[in-house]
Amino acid sequence: IKRIALLTSGGDAPGMNAAIRSVVLAAHHYHIEVIGFYHGYNGLVCEEYIGMAESLSLIKVNGIIHFGGTILKSARCPLMLEEKGLKLAAETLDANTIDALVVIGGDGSFSGLLALKQYWSGQMIGIPGTIDNDLDGTDYTIGFATAVNTGIEAIDKIRDTADAFERIFIVELMGRHCGHITFNVGIACAAEQVLSFENFNANEQSLKLQHLAAEISAAKKNRHSSYIIVIAENLWPGGAAELAKQLHLQADIECTPCILGHIQRGGSPIAKDRILATKMGVAAVQALIEGKSTVMVAEQNNAMHCIPLAKAIKHKKLVSKQLIDAQQNILALTAQTQC
Ligand code: ATP
Repeated sequence: IKRIALLTSGGDAPGMNAAIRSVVLAAHHYHIEVIGFYHGYNGLVCEEYIGMAESLSLIKVNGIIHFGGTILKSARCPLMLEEKGLKLAAETLDANTIDALVVIGGDGSFSGLLALKQYWSGQMIGIPGTIDNDLDGTDYTIGFATAVNTGIEAIDKIRDTADAFERIFIVELMGRHCGHITFNVGIACAAEQVLSFENFNANEQSLKLQHLAAEISAAKKNRHSSYIIVIAENLWPGGAAELAKQLHLQADIECTPCILGHIQRGGSPIAKDRILATKMGVAAVQALIEGKSTVMVAEQNNAMHCIPLAKAIKHKKLVSKQLIDAQQNILALTAQTQC
């Protein structure tokens, strides 16, 4: 291998820069050149971005390990969903004499790699970079730990003001269609309720509302304090604001909705993400040297593996039953203690 193409795609995640640095350092060690393509797959298919591609030197990646975002920029690229886009991407890679493509992103980005495989024969490696932690086969994805910490810091602050006014807050957290962030933040912030895909049946929405209203009323009767509900984005139609409205209209309960939104995607990566990204970047280059392709680098029980991309994206990784049970058990214990 002489030349690797590298890009970041989909939602940005803290630690992507650490992964870029690691790929470039490892590749340089093996005398492989890394060409950085900008703005996700747009860098391979849009004329204005193709021209921005550049050889990534050691100096370029020096001093970026602690930055959030991605120096290569990220984006969605609808053209990749069409044959025209896939052909264009293959042409760009060939025109730049690229031997292997490394993509740092989530499941959508890896679907892009698999689609591209029909038009381009070079090696392909995925590095899991998404705050959602929904990729199967790796214990953690790059950015998840930082996003959880950001959620915790924000809700700790909300708790202060909620306590002062004895208010009820509904805090909406990111995660696309998985509750990894919601469950982890909920437990770490001692949220009184965790509402996520794993413990919520959409058909029972009105039942859930009544149940929630009854629990809030009982808790408020027993003690004067704040009450925090964390809810996964895309769970409740209309989100936290709509849930607050329905609790007001149907149960006369006043709640303050708060959508944490994109602050969860930003910020300096915490140690866990910097280290994971560094290990995964090196593992990606080593996998290429070993001749591997269409795989995702993954960490399981502190060891690096390569998982077929198709397997990594086949099913969303579920929140573990152990975590769901832990959250329910601690809630039950809290309720008993306060009665
Ligand atoms: P995150 O979930 O963290 O936002 P992601 O990688 O899943 O990250 P997506 O927006 O789902 O983000 O996908 C990123 C890009 O990957 C898309 O904009 C598109 O360019 C490409 N992509 C997604 N699915 C496909 C597909 N089926 N075929 C070709 N390209 C795809």
